[in-house]
Amino acid sequence: MLIVPEREIAELMTREAAFDAVEKVFAAMAAGDAYNFPVVREAIGHEDALYGFKGGFDRAGLTLGLKAGGYWPNNLEKRGLINHQSTVFLFDPDTGKAIAMVGGNLLTALRTAAASSVSIRHLARKDAKVIGMVGAGHQAKFQLRAALEQRDFEKVIGWNRHPEMLKNLEDIAAEAGLPFEAVELDGMRQADVIVTITSSFAPILMKDHVSPGTHIACMGTDTKGKQEVDAQLLAGARVFTDEIAQSVTIGESQHAIAAGLIAETDIAQLGAVINGTDPGRSSDDQITLFDGTGVGLQDLAVAAAVVELAAEKGVATEVEL
Ligand code: NAD
Repeated sequence: MLIVPEREIAELMTREAAFDAVEKVFAAMAAGDAYNFPVVREAIGHEDALYGFKGGFDRAGLTLGLKAGGYWPNNLEKRGLINHQSTVFLFDPDTGKAIAMVGGNLLTALRTAAASSVSIRHLARKDAKVIGMVGAGHQAKFQLRAALEQRDFEKVIGWNRHPEMLKNLEDIAAEAGLPFEAVELDGMRQADVIVTITSSFAPILMKDHVSPGTHIACMGTDTKGKQEVDAQLLAGARVFTDEIAQSVTIGESQHAIAAGLIAETDIAQLGAVINGTDPGRSSDDQITLFDGTGVGLQDLAVAAAVVELAAEKGVATEVEL
């Protein structure tokens, strides 16, 4: 079995490799070649931690395994560790033998950024110039960096409930040589692409904050009860997702479904657009919305890619189980 420690991931994994892995696995899911197992997520009654497993099998990429981990809210204060902790385990689909154990923290950030980036590649207007960020935390930096590679953006605008965090976005914009402007929510009307990535439990981005033709990637809502955008926005948009079962239960669509504004059959898989079986955006005026809920197969796909890179470069440790 190969072990790829967390500390090696930053040197090994590129945004391009994460993008390719996620795009391929979304395509395999839509083609029926890959499926996610039911998610387990438990409040374990110790350290206020939420612990769980996300797993799946990709018959096309021959990737089988799970990501185990969760959220330990006291880590930073008590131990100087980051609060989100995860590890990916890969198994040989021919034999069931464990083949790799991979640090999953940075990979989670990269695979999440890759998902909105894949949605922008396939759904945003080609002439998109302004990107708007709602949210400015840890994950927002990854989402913005990856998104900026998808179109010839000329400006970054941002809104955050805690304005002191907007510097995070300004820094990434500067890194790409782009101007940054902090805006009120109605200023988001100038955006051609909007990425939402907050921990909100109530809608922030409302229907009248969004112009026709915008692509919105909703990435923060990954749990029952969370919500970032007005359910009316989904009613007026063409809605895509990574996985429909998650979209309607833990994704942004849960609210529009509960309000009877859209039906499950209105939601399409982003993978179908990648495969060319769904036409995707149908006009320059259409609002497209990607509900990125985060699936286990994304984690396995990027972990498999990093194991390959680690083996090539000789930085994986081999152990006998
Ligand atoms: P973070 O704690 O670093 O940042 C949180 C962000 O949300 C900040 O911008 C903060 O200002 C904002 N925020 C916090 N409470 C808010 C509220 N009540 N209303 C509005 N905004 C609020 O967290 P992060 O690592 O950047 O993660 C952001 C979100 O993304 C989380 O909800 C996380 O669960 C989710 N996430 C989703 C995926 C996925 O695959 N879809 C993957 C990773 C993280």
